[in-house]
Amino acid sequence: MEIFRGISVSPGVAIGEAVVLEAEEYRIPYRVVSANDAPQEHERFLAAVQTSIGEIEEQSTHLSAHLGRDAANVFDWHVGVLKDESLRDQISQLIKKKHAAAAYAVSTVMRSYQRRFMKMSDPLLVERMRDVQDIERRLLRHILGEAREDLAHLTKPVILVAHDLTPTQTAQLSNTKVIGVALDSGAATSHTAILLQSWGRPGVIGLGDISTHFSGGDTIIVDSTNQLVIANPTESTLAEYRVREAAYSRFSHALDDFKDLPAITHDKQPISLFSNIEFPYESRAGMAKGASGVGLYRTEFLFLRPEGAPTEDQQFIAYRDATLGAGGKPVTIRTFDLGADKYTQQRSYEQERNPMLGLRSIRYSLRNLDMFKVQLRAVLRASAHGDVRVMFPLINSLMEFRQAKMTLHDAMEDLEEEGVALNRDIKIGIMVETPAAAIQIKEFCREVDFVSLGTNDLIQYLLAVDRGNVRVSQYYIPSHPAVLRAIRDVVRACSQAEVDCSICGEMAGQPLYTMFLLGVGLRTLSMAPANIPEIKKLVRLTTLSQARRVARRALGFDTDRQVTNYLRDEMCKLLPDDPI
Ligand code: PEP
Ligand code: MG
Repeated sequence: MEIFRGISVSPGVAIGEAVVLEAEEYRIPYRVVSANDAPQEHERFLAAVQTSIGEIEEQSTHLSAHLGRDAANVFDWHVGVLKDESLRDQISQLIKKKHAAAAYAVSTVMRSYQRRFMKMSDPLLVERMRDVQDIERRLLRHILGEAREDLAHLTKPVILVAHDLTPTQTAQLSNTKVIGVALDSGAATSHTAILLQSWGRPGVIGLGDISTHFSGGDTIIVDSTNQLVIANPTESTLAEYRVREAAYSRFSHALDDFKDLPAITHDKQPISLFSNIEFPYESRAGMAKGASGVGLYRTEFLFLRPEGAPTEDQQFIAYRDATLGAGGKPVTIRTFDLGADKYTQQRSYEQERNPMLGLRSIRYSLRNLDMFKVQLRAVLRASAHGDVRVMFPLINSLMEFRQAKMTLHDAMEDLEEEGVALNRDIKIGIMVETPAAAIQIKEFCREVDFVSLGTNDLIQYLLAVDRGNVRVSQYYIPSHPAVLRAIRDVVRACSQAEVDCSICGEMAGQPLYTMFLLGVGLRTLSMAPANIPEIKKLVRLTTLSQARRVARRALGFDTDRQVTNYLRDEMCKLLPDDPI
């Protein structure tokens, strides 16, 4: 049994067989063949070895001619591995004696070989691990050939293990039999993590090199409540987790009872719980979970389709569908938050050295005005179909806000000249995601219709921690006293200026912070739909005076540890039996 620690993306327990998704999207299921087919399977393996050697020798000759012998040496090493008798023998034995499928046998043996290199102290030898990975992929490519399977064709529930998932892959999970996910990379508020959260199943990310430890067919437990992944558990651990899995499933079914109850505090104060969505169909799903509208529609995910940039009509259809899905309730459409970890880096000729501080979000939109205007036209067209609001991300200065607003008005005039229906009084808001915006909040309040606290980014910029960098994830601390004070100050300034203020960062969906957020005066929380029932339960259990007391006390601590311990104690008093 092996235990790995990572970062949880949504609570719960999932137990199942591993499917390891290779970087090149090969899925290596555990599969045995009949005794009769084993020789043929062995032939497939031997043929893959021969083809790989031929291919590498060809590449090596080419490299040697163009770049010299040294450059080609690395390939000699690859050929050496493929000709290594003991390695070949291990794979052959697995196929011949255990009747393992060739792909599975190659993957299992090559992974244990990779692990041997990883444990070495010489960094040059550790680097060899990547070469072994390369060899494994080459062999698998020849073995699986056209028969590579994708996640959509899984036939039984599995745990997906991968180095990373692209947003597109993540978005497809809901149509598969994947019941849990374990990823090497990722940080709590990376966009893959956000998508995993919308998907709502247990997931642990930031696990380092977990994908090299598993082969398809290993039994895996994803315990995202405790941020753990357990591989090949003992009988007693497995039995214990079956009980926990059942308890968690009872707990989440019981939460469904809350979805039709109003979100009011114990002392009958109404609270609005909205959903954060990435795709139009989630708007309806959010309502089914008990949302009162969409507080954040992350439209940039429209770009993450294989087809690339969406047209005005495609955008209009998406925005209109999200609006109709909300059944007349508010839908806040955030303009493209491209850049940083989303889309533009992979496509640019020259990647930014520091993309989190680079040409992202509203900066990118204002630099690409034609594209921005197309989006604003689509949003305005959708505004004729419901209560649509428009929100600009990463606003850092009043000039940026004014320029964005002016572009919106330009688009409005054009559409009116064309006789297109729209809501002229559409509400225009900003996300407060930078320290500058938080500090200048009073000035912003004079010009905006509403404000939404984007704490995912606000935390990264306040604490100078890249939210997507797993190496510094221990410094990404929502309970840092500076974060709590910034939230309090923004909410207070908005309330004095009578400007609506909500929160749509991940903190809004984390039960640990619910009392604090209500206590500082927030009355609108927007979160992944999966979190709504539980937050509603907490809202209904707390009174505003209790929440205010908790917020006051939390704001009095000097360290994040004290804050976290205190908030956890207060939360547990309200939810003593919940397995969260
Ligand atoms: C945020 O930054 O808090 C936010 C909600 O936006 P995103 O996570 O998409 O950057
Ligand atoms: Mg943000």
